[in-house]
Amino acid sequence: MKPTAAQATELRRIRKELANLGLCLPGSINIRTGRCGKTNCTCHAQPPRLHGPFRSWTRKLAGKTITRLLSQEQLDDYQPYFDNHRRLKDLVHQIEQLSLDIVEADERWNST
Ligand SMILES: [Zn+2]
Repeated sequence: MKPTAAQATELRRIRKELANLGLCLPGSINIRTGRCGKTNCTCHAQPPRLHGPFRSWTRKLAGKTITRLLSQEQLDDYQPYFDNHRRLKDLVHQIEQLSLDIVEADERWNST
């Protein structure tokens, strides 16, 4: 069982990208504006002035959902880490797929 030259090149590319990846923050960002319960508030005026934007960061920890509000400055600072995490998941998927392709090509599957 040996990777092809193309598969070996692919593996090197993935490993290099993984090695160069910076901080990775899991979770998703949601930005929203909203109205409150006070009927005389400007958020119910015409035109409305909505509250927010509220930037919430949601992630799972030990099966629990954790949500925290971020300032715009925090979001600006952390955005590259969220982007890196998305790239990390993508690279993990790629290395899994490459591994499956290599193992699927193993001729010993046919002799058992
Ligand atoms: Zn309001």
